[in-house]
Amino acid sequence: MPEGHTIHRLASAIDDAFGGSRPAVSSPQGRFAESAALLDGTYLDSADAWGKHLFVEFSAERVLHVHLGLIGKFSVLSYDDMLPPPRGAVRLRLATDTTVADLRGPIICALRTPTEVTEVIARTGPDPLRADADPSRAWDRIHRSRKAIGQLLMDQDVVAGIGNLYRCELLWRHRVDPFKPGNKVRSAVWDALWTDLVRLMKVGVATGRIVTDEAQLEKAEAAIASTGAAVVRRPKHAVYKRTDEPCPRCGAKVRTQVMGGRNLFWCPRCQRHRTA
Ligand SMILES: [Zn+2]
Repeated sequence: MPEGHTIHRLASAIDDAFGGSRPAVSSPQGRFAESAALLDGTYLDSADAWGKHLFVEFSAERVLHVHLGLIGKFSVLSYDDMLPPPRGAVRLRLATDTTVADLRGPIICALRTPTEVTEVIARTGPDPLRADADPSRAWDRIHRSRKAIGQLLMDQDVVAGIGNLYRCELLWRHRVDPFKPGNKVRSAVWDALWTDLVRLMKVGVATGRIVTDEAQLEKAEAAIASTGAAVVRRPKHAVYKRTDEPCPRCGAKVRTQVMGGRNLFWCPRCQRHRTA
């Protein structure tokens, strides 16, 4: 499943390609045909992301709401002469003379009113990638919950945009036991997790990769600071998908089990009875 940084990159790509234009909007597959007809040729103002939700604002207070779910893809391509024909089940297509964006397999592709968008956002936790995010909203949920912190982090109502990879690596970076109940996590630990998440996900947006290794992070941040971009070819991960391999910090074997519907990976030695 795409994590939040991917959706923020997608929002920027759609904004750059279509913001301020009147794209042709269609539904080659047919399932979004009626709504597409309402949007077709109207003014596309801007695109924005909130966690894993993508909102594309058109004129007449019409907002396109997309959630890619596990397998959805929204690909933005520029083309030279001929508009490429849709391939596969394209739910939604945006097209100008130079750019086409095809949406396939989303779990949500719907037309919303601004009020409905506000309702979706109100149900969603703070998004570390948004300047207007309020981490205390997440803390309110976490410190009242007996659910494991590893589970809470996957709940989009608690924090928006984190996926499994960020969850596993973030907890490892802070030596937090993923099984620790939310109400046993200290507020200073939550503050540190949030601050780090903002840092990690910003590098994620800039590079398009999930970079969690400290040396790679620092290198990427230095490149971003000087050139505005960075390339990380092979992000190293400490525990994610490293079952039975030695923890890079303490050497204990990395373990895995399902938590929150996804495979959790953690170090049973340095993520136990520590700072959390
Ligand atoms: Zn360890």
